[in-house]
Amino acid sequence: MTKLIDNFGRQITYLRLAVTDRCNLRCQYCMPAEGIDIVNRKELLSYKEMYRIVRVLSELGVNKVRLTGGEPFVRKDFISFLEKLNYNKNLKEINITTNGALISNHITKLEELNIKNVNLSIDSLQAENFKKITRRDVFNEVYKTLETLEKSTLNLKLNVVIQSGINTNEIKDFIELTKDKNLSVRFIEEMPFNGKGLRKTKEKWTFNRILQEINSHFNTIKKLPEGKSSTSKNYKTKGYKGSFGIIPAFTRTICSDCNRIRITATGLFKNCLFDDGVFNIRDFIRNGASDDEIKQVFIETISKKPKNGFIAEAQRKSGKKVSESMSTIGG
Ligand code: SAM
Ligand code: SF4
Repeated sequence: MTKLIDNFGRQITYLRLAVTDRCNLRCQYCMPAEGIDIVNRKELLSYKEMYRIVRVLSELGVNKVRLTGGEPFVRKDFISFLEKLNYNKNLKEINITTNGALISNHITKLEELNIKNVNLSIDSLQAENFKKITRRDVFNEVYKTLETLEKSTLNLKLNVVIQSGINTNEIKDFIELTKDKNLSVRFIEEMPFNGKGLRKTKEKWTFNRILQEINSHFNTIKKLPEGKSSTSKNYKTKGYKGSFGIIPAFTRTICSDCNRIRITATGLFKNCLFDDGVFNIRDFIRNGASDDEIKQVFIETISKKPKNGFIAEAQRKSGKKVSESMSTIGG
């Protein structure tokens, strides 16, 4: 099988696919209060197009897909799409990132399907603070999802974006949650993907600063072995059921064994989270490209994947630093 290997010898096996740019929440670090300019429905990849893209990529060695957005469960018939993807036997893992506000009724179905990891975004364990961050009053529903997922057969990871002066005081509470719950909390460095650009903050909450905060509260932390191409450095507190990790998303120290590519809801192909799109696969498909032509364009484009996120950002065609909403990219 021809594989997707870049000029630095990294093999691409993981696709992050945004199934929509729409979202039911308005997280401050992701988009402005008024939301983003969503695209016309026709500009979104259809499920048929997405299925084909995944199939073609899976014939080139991609064996893991994460479905994200916007909020994936906002898109009509998302569950039917999952059912179809499930037929692709080249896929070892189908994962989902969700804000959890719409999914508590779907969890049994997700268990029946081949879904492996569900990453639930929850940035506060306090209803009022959650509301301030997401600009929506859905904490109780999201927490219910958390509890149901934790008891399910699905692997649960919590995504917590660390926001200076907003939820840094809750880092210890999130770790305490791992005492009795079988889940992994992942603290994510905030990036400027919010529709406006870098937010002015008192302090920079980098990987090291987050770890320092954790060490000031817990003294029995053990580093866990590193999984290949993992986005997070992982740890466990002695005697606790779950674990936690830190994702250096903005300081970008994880690029050297990156195995990921991204496709946005409008079909923009991204070799790196920090580039501004290399080509549009939707247009290529709609112009009648054959499977072989699609494969060739992926092989050629991926071979040129930038060495790291800093280079990708410096090479942006627009010349502008990142500021677009994460909802248009898929996290
Ligand atoms: N709506 C779903 C959700 O929130 O889980 C999926 C899409 S969301 C864009 C994917 C992930 O990106 C979420 O975990 C979210 O917290 C994260 N994210 C969004 N904006 C971010 C930013 N500016 N910096 C770091 N992570 C961000
Ligand atoms: Fe929506 Fe997810 Fe962005 Fe929050 S982080 S606004 S839930 S897309």
